[in-house]
Amino acid sequence: MTLNLLSHSTCFADAESVEPVAALLSVVGADLAAPLVTGGQARYANLDYAASAPALRVVADRVAEVLPFYASVHRGAGYASQVSTALLERSRSVIGEFVGARAGDVVVFTRNTTDGLNLLAGCLPAGGDVVFLDLEHHANLLPWQRGRHRCVPVQPTVEATLRSLEETLGHQPAALVAVTGASNVTGEELPVDRIVALAHRHGARVVVDAAQLAPHRRIDLAASGADYVAFSGHKMYAPYGTGVLVGRRDWLDRATPYLAGGGAVQRVEVDADSAQTSVQWACAPARHEAGTPNVLGAAALAAACEALRHLPPDALEGHEAALRGRLVDGLSAVAGVQVHRVFADAPSSIGVVAFTVDGVEAGLVAAFLSAEHGIGVRDGAFCAHPLLARLGLGAGAVRASVGVGTCSADVDRLVGAVQQLVEEGPQWTYARVEGRWAPTPDPRPVPSWAGELTGAGAGTSPCLPATRGSGS
Ligand code: PMP
Repeated sequence: MTLNLLSHSTCFADAESVEPVAALLSVVGADLAAPLVTGGQARYANLDYAASAPALRVVADRVAEVLPFYASVHRGAGYASQVSTALLERSRSVIGEFVGARAGDVVVFTRNTTDGLNLLAGCLPAGGDVVFLDLEHHANLLPWQRGRHRCVPVQPTVEATLRSLEETLGHQPAALVAVTGASNVTGEELPVDRIVALAHRHGARVVVDAAQLAPHRRIDLAASGADYVAFSGHKMYAPYGTGVLVGRRDWLDRATPYLAGGGAVQRVEVDADSAQTSVQWACAPARHEAGTPNVLGAAALAAACEALRHLPPDALEGHEAALRGRLVDGLSAVAGVQVHRVFADAPSSIGVVAFTVDGVEAGLVAAFLSAEHGIGVRDGAFCAHPLLARLGLGAGAVRASVGVGTCSADVDRLVGAVQQLVEEGPQWTYARVEGRWAPTPDPRPVPSWAGELTGAGAGTSPCLPATRGSGS
């Protein structure tokens, strides 16, 4: 069977359902058809933007436009090389502007948010203590384990959590507070400006893990005073393998280069007598960008930043708030469905919603939604094990998340499918395959270039006692 694109996206079939943002910015794959185990196909309802967002059409077009000019950067004398070098450096500026970088801030290209936060962890002043909350994604939790760190438990309210944070910093100063801009589990935002103010009062810098926030909200380093921000292209509608760490130069300039290799040095010499090499390292960003950079990824991320930046003010926020409200209201109205949150008073939330269905494992809910309804969500612990444990969700949850290409019909399909699951149960058979729920049998065809469906979504192979489900 050939997997095709539906000829007309039903997302826009009904004039009432046309979403202003989706009409302004289209995504690649908006009309993708997903085969169903029960036969036929449905327009793929992608409600998994928080894991990886589809490419914006303008981003894919930009990559196609620049591809003929692709060549090695910085040291090439050829025309294409010079164009590629200009493109890389312009992309750096565009991304810096997108996050309100101050004069003197540095934009370092990384692979993703995890990479950016690990980079910063290697740049901390000697002995510098890092403070973070226990709601963080593992990417903003594990890199800090390498040095001195303190994990502050969240409280039932944001206000009480800020007080705890302040007490922790008052008790013993820290070099850095590492905080997420928005939870990748519940979507709740943290008041970054207030956290920056309180951290600075205690002499600590702040890094914002903006993996979730950046695609949904304007970030302004200059206005908020945040010292660093890290985010990923693949969540920013630019899935071409690039992320960034943006922020203050001094720590980055003093630190050991993240990778040792070409491009990160000014001069390398070998002393013939001692047979030792001596190296004069470059300053940031080159210091931390050894090896051939991902020019196409940088261009893609810059194109996404430009596109998001040019949306009318509040358009994105309004679009996502409406969808989130519809999702939360719809799911909450289904008997036996719980929507989870951390705080009673989060100032606002991005379009990420975690829920559970009484008596049905999260993995089975997700497998059912995909196999019988063509709806993509995520299940598991979302790389936030401490938070899931705190929420009493050790067995995992289901996460639905929205973005620019989501329409209200997608949300309604999810709510309707969950309702059907609760009332009628699945129409197909499911079993655990390699630890994950999957339809059995699974007759859905896969494009020939993709290989076989694993059913399990791979997951991690534990080298220590088994960990809970994968997912990000
Ligand atoms: N932080 C948060 C809040 C995230 O949601 C994620 C990804 N799920 C990450 C960090 C890590 O991002 P990446 O996988 O792109 O490195």
